[in-house]
Amino acid sequence: MKLIDLRSDTLTKLKPEDLLDINYDYIGDDCYDEDRYVKMLEFKIADLFGKESALFMPSGTMSNQVALRVLSKPGEELITEVGYHVCFFESSQTAALNGLVINNVHTKSGILTTSDVLNAFNNKARWSNLYATPKIISIESSISTYGGMIFPLDEISQLRMLCDERKMSLFLDGARVLNACVSLGISPKKYTEHIDMLNLCLSKGVGSPFGSMLIGRQDEIDKAKKIRKWYGGALHQSGLMAAIALNKLKNYSSRLERDHINAKSLELICTKYFQLAYPVETNIVMIKSHNADALVNKLKEYGVLATAWTANTVRFVTSSNINHEMINQIKSIFETIDKHKGFL
Ligand SMILES: *Cc1c(COP(=O)(O)O)cnc(C)c1O
Repeated sequence: MKLIDLRSDTLTKLKPEDLLDINYDYIGDDCYDEDRYVKMLEFKIADLFGKESALFMPSGTMSNQVALRVLSKPGEELITEVGYHVCFFESSQTAALNGLVINNVHTKSGILTTSDVLNAFNNKARWSNLYATPKIISIESSISTYGGMIFPLDEISQLRMLCDERKMSLFLDGARVLNACVSLGISPKKYTEHIDMLNLCLSKGVGSPFGSMLIGRQDEIDKAKKIRKWYGGALHQSGLMAAIALNKLKNYSSRLERDHINAKSLELICTKYFQLAYPVETNIVMIKSHNADALVNKLKEYGVLATAWTANTVRFVTSSNINHEMINQIKSIFETIDKHKGFL
């Protein structure tokens, strides 16, 4: 049985053509600044986002943590939403590595608005600089725990004004920011023009096996390079990974578009049997189920892999692993499961 793997877009498979056209003479030691592919990738990404500079990072988590360190000092405050990766998955690192006080906001919609931030601001003692100083607003797009929802551009520009007023930095965890841009039909440069620093994961929908990019102003990326070294993330011959990423980036837009179309088709199939947990805007379909584990196990019997995200939600992620025929197969699998057991 050929598996239909919808657990994550980090599980994409490399193909021989991803390694074609690699000039092995370009691969050097990036700790000596002698890897041409890493330089090319950093240049390409900085240009794509219209920022001064970019830095190749081993992971999105390290990229986020290095950014927080660059934009703040221990004891300062980070305002974010409780479901965003920086808090949901990384609260320990954010506290232990960067010494930040996380001021967590619980929003209904998943979007951290300026009024949410002002509430978070006003919830604590601010009448002297002896107390924690909010330095960073951290947002996410697309938002993984909210079913791949896109952070609206107008909200980003409102947050920019607030950051300018309050002398805070605006950080975007854009692990899947290219999904957001492709779905909106907006260039990455335009979408992130109000952002100070951002993370992009190459290992998600872009389909690379490895790596993330930290993107921002030159002086801040220079600092990030030092902190990456402290955290053990300076890599030697990482050019092979950079070369694959450059190959993968050539047609990212059409590939992500296809992922989004497949997610929409999957949404249509799912809504016959389930309620959506969130509207489908990119490559994630999150549904409500009264027993997520049981549903995931049942689907596995038919070769469909998904994630029980919480006890009552199941997550499907489309990626280059998934094609149109597989989505059609899922349709008949759901029909079969439904007919035989009334399981759904
Ligand atoms: C995947 C992801 C990360 C972390 O990336 P890793 O490479 O797995 O460390 C950070 N933020 C978001 C929103 C993600 O989806």
